[in-house]
Amino acid sequence: MEAFQWQQARSPAEAAALVTQTTAEAMLTLQDTPIAQQAILVKAGGVDMLDLMKEGLVNPLRLVDVSWLAELQGISRGSDGSLRIGALTTLAQIAADPGLRQSHAALAQAAAMSASPQIRNRATLGGNLLQRPRCWYLRSAAHHCLRKGGGHCFA
Ligand SMILES: Cc1cc2nc3c(=O)[nH]c(=O)nc-3n(C[C@H](O)[C@H](O)[C@H](O)COP(=O)(O)OP(=O)(O)OC[C@H]3O[C@@H](n4cnc5c(N)ncnc54)[C@H](O)[C@@H]3O)c2cc1C
Repeated sequence: MEAFQWQQARSPAEAAALVTQTTAEAMLTLQDTPIAQQAILVKAGGVDMLDLMKEGLVNPLRLVDVSWLAELQGISRGSDGSLRIGALTTLAQIAADPGLRQSHAALAQAAAMSASPQIRNRATLGGNLLQRPRCWYLRSAAHHCLRKGGGHCFA
């Protein structure tokens, strides 16, 4: 893994202003090019992001850590019965929430059955929805596939 800078975001607005592109966009550029090495990307739990970095699939200049932002955490209900799940809510919190287990049993069960206890304690809902596809070719540095700006889908 290449060296990178680390910055703790103090608010969602600051994080949004700092970040230069999405991880999907960063992966479209060959990782040894200067433009790829200027990327400033969001990191939540870091489960997927650090995997991508260790495999050399993204090589950001800086990670903006949002994992401490209170505004993006927790599960709450509005007076009209609407449900809000913050992007930083972990899969373990979703799996264990008594209200969700009652009202959204499929979601709670899916969270409970994903990955392993260690990963569920770290992995966030936002990161889960935004993780890159679990395609062998996409995650192989040796294959410059369609989703990485290549001309061919090996799958
Ligand atoms: C061994 C293993 C088993 C797994 N099993 C399962 C499984 O059974 N089912 C399943 O669904 N998943 C599974 N996963 C995937 C795992 O759930 C995700 O990697 C995890 O949820 C990512 O969350 P994170 O907070 O760590 O995201 P990060 O790694 O921090 O980020 C992932 C992506 O989301 C973006 N991102 C994260 N948060 C935000 C935000 N708030 N705003 C904007 N962008 C954001 C990041 O920029 C990055 O592109 C598994 C992973 C591993 C390693």
